[in-house]
This record gives sequence, structure tokens and C-alpha cells, in this order.
Amino acid sequence: MALNVVMLGPPGAGKGTQAERLAAARGIPKVSTGDILRDAVARATPLGQVARAAMDAGQLVGDDIVIALVTERLAQPDALPGFVLDGFPRTVTQAEALDNLMRGRGPLTVLHVVVPLEELVRRVSSRMVCERCGRNRPPDLAPESRCPADGGRWVQRADDAADVVRERLRVFERQTRPLVEHYRQRGWLWEIDGNRPPDEVTRAIARTVDLAATHGRAGEAVPTRGRA
Ligand code: AMP
Repeated sequence: MALNVVMLGPPGAGKGTQAERLAAARGIPKVSTGDILRDAVARATPLGQVARAAMDAGQLVGDDIVIALVTERLAQPDALPGFVLDGFPRTVTQAEALDNLMRGRGPLTVLHVVVPLEELVRRVSSRMVCERCGRNRPPDLAPESRCPADGGRWVQRADDAADVVRERLRVFERQTRPLVEHYRQRGWLWEIDGNRPPDEVTRAIARTVDLAATHGRAGEAVPTRGRA
């Protein structure tokens, strides 16, 4: 059966890292709307030019744009056995569009990664990414080192600046948090305690995804702290 996963959580929850690990472990693509949009901005494509102002301000890019991006991406053959969505959906309108896209494609498993606010702010303000490929700097590499993949320098993401982060967290609370209820009602929501070392989170996610697969659509919201 296809493994269709959504990673839900605020900026700094570790969604990107965990989505990448899960996708690699299961041989399915990670689809990050943030990565697709950042790439478009870097290449100054028409999409990038439209998206840039909203991203720089910590606001969301329009629903129509991101829904079109995801619709096209999930239709590609490599996504048919499944995918890990990182950063989409972020609004109820996007979640409804995804519900429609999923008809006939098997259930969704939604992982809600929970991290306390102070820890989110701490993580995002110390986050550095590769200027070329956007990969996060591993904690064991110094800020002056270079990206092991392509030799790029580590830089702060423009939208990780303190005032923009505060706005992104507000946007999460207002526009994305309602999705927790959307998915809880459908029985697809699984809570993951993201406030622990990344390898532990990875293991909890692997266990939860396997548990969700055996439960099929009957997944209940199971707090994984001390369980998974
Ligand atoms: P992320 O890397 O997921 O934190 O996304 C970075 C920025 O890209 C966000 O702050 C938004 O401006 C934009 N973005 C990414 N995904 C979406 C989405 N699903 N809907 C609207 N805007 C998005």
C-alpha cells in the first residue's frame, strides 16, 4: 500500500530533517513546498517573483499557487508509491485540496510534530543552511565549515531573522494549527514529541508510520511520548 505522509508542525519543529530521513528510508520522494519555492526565488522564475514578497515577510504564498505546485508534483510517477509532504498543507483550503487529490490513492498519515515555543525560537535563531543546496548545517559542523555535499557556505535563511520568525509562528497558529483538528476528526493524526534528539524523533516516526499502516484509516491521535 502507498505510504502517504504529511509532516505538520511549526517552523523549527524539525519537519524538514525528519521528512528527508523518512523519505530516504522508505524510498519515496520528499515534497517540500518551501524548497520548491526557495528554488524558484533563487532562479528568479515567474513563480519565484510572485512568491518572494510573501516569503520574505513570513506570510504564506497564495493557496492557488501552492496547490497547483503540489498537484503537479504528486502526479509524477515517483510519487505514486507514496510521498512525504513537508510544509504542505498549511491552510484549510490546501488541506481540502489534498483530500481531493488523495481520492483513490490510499490513506494519509499525518504526523504532528510538537515542540514547545521557546525551543522553536531557540532552534530557528541558531539554524544555518547551505547557501547552495539549502541543507541544514549538522550540529557537529562549525559555522565556518562548508557543506559536505557541495562546499557551499553556511548562512542564515532570510526568513529565519527574529522578526520574520515571530510572524511565521503567528501565521502557523492562525492558519495551520486548525489543520490539527481537520485531521484529528478524520482519524489520521498522530502526535510526535519533537522535543528530543533528532535520532530519537526519527525512530518514533518510523514506529508511528508502521503502526498507522497496520491500523489503516483507523489511526487515533496517540501521544507518542513514552509510547512510540
Ligand atoms: P518552509 O520552508 O516550509 O518554512 O516555507 C518557507 C516559506 O515558503 C513559508 O514561510 C511560506 O512563505 C512559503 N510556503 C511554503 N509552503 C507553503 C504553503 N504550503 N503555503 C503557502 N506558503 C508556503
